Amino acid sequence: MKRHVRARASSLAALIAALLAFPAFADERLPKVVVLATGGTIAGAAASDVQAGYTSGQVGVEQLLAAVPQAKKLAVLSGEQIANIGSQDMNDEVWFNLVRRINALAAMQDVHGVVVTHGTDTIEETAYFLNLVVKTDKPVVLTAAMRASTALSADGPLNFYNAVAVAANPDAVGRGVLVVVNDWIHGASSLTKTSTTAVQTFLSPVWGLIGTVAYGDAEFYRGPVGRHTRDSEFSLDGVTALPRVDIIMAHANMDGAMIEAAVAAGAKGIVIAGVGNGNMTGAALAALAAQAKKGVVCVRASRVTTGRVGRNVEVDDDKLGFVASLGLNPQKSRVLLRLALTKTKDLGKIQRYFDEY
Ligand code: ASP
Repeated sequence: MKRHVRARASSLAALIAALLAFPAFADERLPKVVVLATGGTIAGAAASDVQAGYTSGQVGVEQLLAAVPQAKKLAVLSGEQIANIGSQDMNDEVWFNLVRRINALAAMQDVHGVVVTHGTDTIEETAYFLNLVVKTDKPVVLTAAMRASTALSADGPLNFYNAVAVAANPDAVGRGVLVVVNDWIHGASSLTKTSTTAVQTFLSPVWGLIGTVAYGDAEFYRGPVGRHTRDSEFSLDGVTALPRVDIIMAHANMDGAMIEAAVAAGAKGIVIAGVGNGNMTGAALAALAAQAKKGVVCVRASRVTTGRVGRNVEVDDDKLGFVASLGLNPQKSRVLLRLALTKTKDLGKIQRYFDEY
């Protein structure tokens, strides 16, 4: 009887070994990565492969996956269409849906990582938003393309391949939300778009890259700057809407009209994309200080691509009741301020957020 059981067990083990050796079953041992598609140029299409004009968000997630069959050797892939828009139209509804879906996927034991395909225009805002509110150590990797999927030398397929490789890589765990474009791995707080059309548009000035990835082979240099994901105080639990925050760009001869208009439109916070070190004209400063006194939270950032906006340097933030953006650019300052306002209006606390995130 015992010999019979042993014989059955060993033939079962042989069957399992044979099945695992078979490629279809061997694939099941690859990490599982889920692709959430939102549109953008990576899913864009034009009538010809040498046409500058094209439309974002034309290609569905299944077509995107089918266009890069090589990625199936890196991970077991499945795709979901969250939206199919140009990222100039990115909005709170898509952001909330992405957060809910990423948090749910990350809670599944068999999911190793998530890739989000996105347009390049606002990818830095989405990445930074997700970095603050998704609750996981698992890799969440955004990718994009500068050239439409139908273009000559389209950059989307390799970017997608590299993003899948990073999402499947155990070394990507715990590094916050990442953006993989053009062989570079950026942190969500550091990257910014610097060229309207160049493939090499994304840079992480000042803080530098998290790593590089060449045909799927990733090398990580360091972790991201600022608190993120599981260590973030922010979450969308119990939050149904985010307050309005407007960005106003400073310029020569600026008056206070746009500042007043923003508040009249319902802004609870204002980010000034200031000149230089978060500066603006005397008239704009006076208008901003008047709104700060009424309880509108005003953040001074800079329209300059690199460098910090320091507290109390040329502008007396303490006296006027302002917050300094420190290392964050205006678009990311807006994201942080919207989340901050879901928790507090205390200027000291909000300044701390800018210091820590
Ligand atoms: N307008 C496009 C978008 O952001 C540009 C791109 O994806 O490169 O969706």
